[in-house]
Amino acid sequence: MTKIGLEIHCQLTKLESKLFCSCKADYRGFEPNTNICPVCVGLPGSLPRLNKKAIEKATVIAMALNCQTPQKIAFFRKNYFYPDLPKNFQITQLNIYGPTSIGQEGKISVEGKEIQIRRIQLEEDPGRLIYEGSSERTQITLVDYNRAGTPLVEIVTEPDFENPKQVRLFLNILSDLLENLGVSDPSLEGAMRADANVSIEGGSKVEIKNINSFYDLEKALHFELTRQQSLAERKIEIIQETRHWDDKRKITISARSKEEEEDYRYFLEGDIPWVKIDSKTVERLKEGMPESISSKKIRYENYGIPTQVADILSSEKYFSDFFQKYLDYSNLVINKKLGVPNNFNEIEEFDKKYHSFAKEGANIITTDLMGLLDNKEKRNASKLTAEHLSDLVNAILENKITRHSSKTVLQTMVKTGKPISEIISEFALEQVSDDAILSTMIDEVIKEESKAVEEAKLNPEAINYLVGKVMKKTKGQADPTLTLNLLKKKIS
Ligand SMILES: [Zn+2]
Repeated sequence: MTKIGLEIHCQLTKLESKLFCSCKADYRGFEPNTNICPVCVGLPGSLPRLNKKAIEKATVIAMALNCQTPQKIAFFRKNYFYPDLPKNFQITQLNIYGPTSIGQEGKISVEGKEIQIRRIQLEEDPGRLIYEGSSERTQITLVDYNRAGTPLVEIVTEPDFENPKQVRLFLNILSDLLENLGVSDPSLEGAMRADANVSIEGGSKVEIKNINSFYDLEKALHFELTRQQSLAERKIEIIQETRHWDDKRKITISARSKEEEEDYRYFLEGDIPWVKIDSKTVERLKEGMPESISSKKIRYENYGIPTQVADILSSEKYFSDFFQKYLDYSNLVINKKLGVPNNFNEIEEFDKKYHSFAKEGANIITTDLMGLLDNKEKRNASKLTAEHLSDLVNAILENKITRHSSKTVLQTMVKTGKPISEIISEFALEQVSDDAILSTMIDEVIKEESKAVEEAKLNPEAINYLVGKVMKKTKGQADPTLTLNLLKKKIS
């Protein structure tokens, strides 16, 4: 049986400062070795000061992954020599004296399969090594310590994955979850990294490191499984080792025999006392947690939004936040229109209207807006507000414009931020729902399409072709229901 386990490193990119000093947690954009201080480069005599916010954010992650959180946490030194590690030890966590890591024994469900989280620990990121030069011989390695000390949460799973696809789905869920919690921006380069351990029936565990993207992780897993299976078929022993993913050659290569925990000579970090996390703090953090993706999804479905749309919308933080603002504003609009409901019928009417706003708004966001704002630059430049979208949906629901014309309105709003009334008159988008005007146009279509008219008389479904022709004549602005009714009357 295939067993895959993961170690995922996730930077807390939304924090202001590093884990043990006041240098910036978001080191991106700095000149090399300028976002550093005596603490994060480990100068003798410097003392770490623990970032309280990092503990809180990590605890929130642990709770969101259904972990148990301990009342006291401890930090340990993990000793090893590597050029990216200025102190020659990393401050991290380990459960030597009972569960003292930030979280343990969590779980997350991936398409019905439960993946258990063994442990979550808070630690510091090392610096970055940059390789220059083309061949092994001419290669130069540069060290940049700007990243050293960035708060990192390591999530260790049990070897519960049975195939690479489950791994990919899990990482997508995890990445959405972290973004939704507001603790990290997983789209930043290097903000989320994963190592994997892989074994097949009867073989030793092999660890794969050095994987830069989730896309490569899936490939690395496929490669490694094939390699192990082919060894097993030839009755060659699969040895326990660490292998690196070579993303140029798309293969894993043997790096070193795997270290055991004792090789790191872990000991308690004497410069940081144990930290108590009392029940009051846990309660406060729980209350401050944003609505989870799954509960958003259920709420959306209760509005009558189709499952697939609810799925997409709830997992995209930018758009679900926007959708919420839109709903809050639309709520006020409906209140103004209908008054505050105070009996059962009025509540029912209110809900019906609110659900129509929710459905149409979700539809526009997922089918049109997500395409218009598919990257950060476009989102930052967008002039669209929640009020705009609410006005647009209102105009559609009141048959002032067609769903077809709404695309032009939305595009213009995103680009210019103009109010809807201005855009409708500028582009002459007012829906044609005037009987007389439509009637003349329908007469024209009937004259031009005599063959189709005969067909429609025999086959009621063929009438849609004529509706389409009227739509075309009005550049999509004809009221579709009215057109159909008029057409039916005229040709019967
Ligand atoms: Zn520093």
